[in-house]
Amino acid sequence: RAKAEGRGTFRVFSVDMDDEAEERRALESELRQALADGLLSLHYQPQVDGASGRLVGFEALVRWLHPSRGQIPPTVFVPLAEESGLIVALGDWVLREACREAATWAPELKVSVNLSPRQLLKPDLPETVLAILAETGLSPDRLELEVTESVIINDMSRAIGILRRLKSFGIRISMDDFGTGYASLATLHAFPFDKMKIDRSFVAQLESDPQAAVIVRAVLSLGRSLRMSVVAEGVETPAQRRFLADEACGEMQGYLFGKPAPIGDFADMLGVADRSGALAAPAVKVA
Ligand code: C2E
Ligand code: MG
Ligand code: MG
Ligand code: MG
Repeated sequence: RAKAEGRGTFRVFSVDMDDEAEERRALESELRQALADGLLSLHYQPQVDGASGRLVGFEALVRWLHPSRGQIPPTVFVPLAEESGLIVALGDWVLREACREAATWAPELKVSVNLSPRQLLKPDLPETVLAILAETGLSPDRLELEVTESVIINDMSRAIGILRRLKSFGIRISMDDFGTGYASLATLHAFPFDKMKIDRSFVAQLESDPQAAVIVRAVLSLGRSLRMSVVAEGVETPAQRRFLADEACGEMQGYLFGKPAPIGDFADMLGVADRSGALAAPAVKVA
């Protein structure tokens, strides 16, 4: 980009770049410290059954409350951690924390955890996950791992191998943000995904753009053909929910059902098995 702007602007631009690089380095070291000091936390967002609205689980989403800058969004610091390699330690922390938390919920509730590409490509990930499950007592069938299409383009055969091994434990794998990346249908099929999450950009346009409805229907139909369940992300309105329910979308997630929040906000929904083993997790009420 500097070159494209011509010689005259190069110096100025490179100074900006230095500033930016410095800023990133500072933020990265603060993130490392925050992780060490226990200043990261998890928020949880409800995921519900598409037909009944019944709560089926939560997605864990990492949060960083910076002492002077306030909340820094994960879309800023997760890529930073990914670049610096800190994502491996950060990701292990997220996994352990989410599994520890989920182990206290009613046993039919599952937890979804996001994995970044670098985390996924680490050959010892399956053993790490196995150790965390053992340590926290969470049954593997209650854990879902979400990966994006970017893992596919990086190192496909390695990623497939690692995902297969994770699946062999009984863990489920979701493709996150489906429709925004570069995966072809052939690569999608080559991967051992159990689920696709339709990116919220399509859901957001359901009411305004007829093309979005066509795409969402096509993804739902693809899911049925490939025997993958489909989750719609970013459901915000009753009209979106109605459309998706009419099209038999398996699961939904979005502000309509609940914004990501500390788990304490959902305390009355976490259900507890009673002595006969019956479960008490209620359906999420739609206002
Ligand atoms: P994602 O995995 O696709 O997570 C869903 C994002 O959409 C979350 O943003 C959530 O707050 C937001 N969202 C959910 N429902 C709605 C809705 O109805 N409307 C709108 N406008 N937004 C909604 P968040 O928490 O800021 O996370 C952004 C991304 O950061 C995540 O996208 C994920 O890619 C990444 N991320 C978050 N936590 C982790 C983590 O622990 N590890 C890794 N590797 N990545 C993470
Ligand atoms: Mg996700
Ligand atoms: Mg997503
Ligand atoms: Mg997303």
